[in-house]
Amino acid sequence: MNALLKSLQGSGTKCNVCGWEGRAFTDDQWHPGTICPLCGSQVRHRMLAAALDGQADIPGLDEKSVLTGKAILHFAPERQLRDRVSRSAGKYVTADYDRGDCDLKLDISAMPSVQDRSFDVVISCDVLEHVPDDLAAMREIRRILRPGGTAILTVPQMDPPAHTDEDPSVLSESGREIRFGQKDHVRMYGDDFVDRLRATGFEVDVLTSEHFSVNEAGRMVLAPPVKSPSPLATNCRRIYFARKPSG
Ligand SMILES: [Zn+2]
Repeated sequence: MNALLKSLQGSGTKCNVCGWEGRAFTDDQWHPGTICPLCGSQVRHRMLAAALDGQADIPGLDEKSVLTGKAILHFAPERQLRDRVSRSAGKYVTADYDRGDCDLKLDISAMPSVQDRSFDVVISCDVLEHVPDDLAAMREIRRILRPGGTAILTVPQMDPPAHTDEDPSVLSESGREIRFGQKDHVRMYGDDFVDRLRATGFEVDVLTSEHFSVNEAGRMVLAPPVKSPSPLATNCRRIYFARKPSG
């Protein structure tokens, strides 16, 4: 066992992605105690896993309802989610803008090679903050979903009541890092992200740590134990289940 894992031995914290149990998770850029030392899961991965396990108090977010037997397109597929989603899917396709380990090379904001209504589910976690025309991406996701299909989306967000901060004239890596939190981000979303989804024609459920029992949310660390004072830190993670209406 490596020194890090040894130093975190204990109880009280459990990763519901890989099963690791210990005293605490390791630190991310902004928060102490949020990353699993074994599989690298972050808050968003564990929150989605907990929802798929049927632990959220919003109905219809469990694995059987959302993933089982479905045609799923997974953008920028994270290893923490990939195995579970691919096992559950009826058809599983991965895509990325430039990674070489995916089935398709796709620009999420322009996907002419993907037919209308060809997927039941699109998963895209922490992708849209990299995309210059995110509204075009939302329209494309809606186009390729079947009626009644679901997009599972996350983005870094400032804490409310902030409004999305974007400025196409900020082009330098250092400028983007200072303003948007990372050198390849083109904006920092505010709590109006959901408005963009609704304006695109999605019906949206927003999942946060508050939709789980306090005990389970604490044990799996579905919210940072200590909030960061930085406005770029995403203290409150939200997972958006955006449905294309069936009508
Ligand atoms: Zn883990």
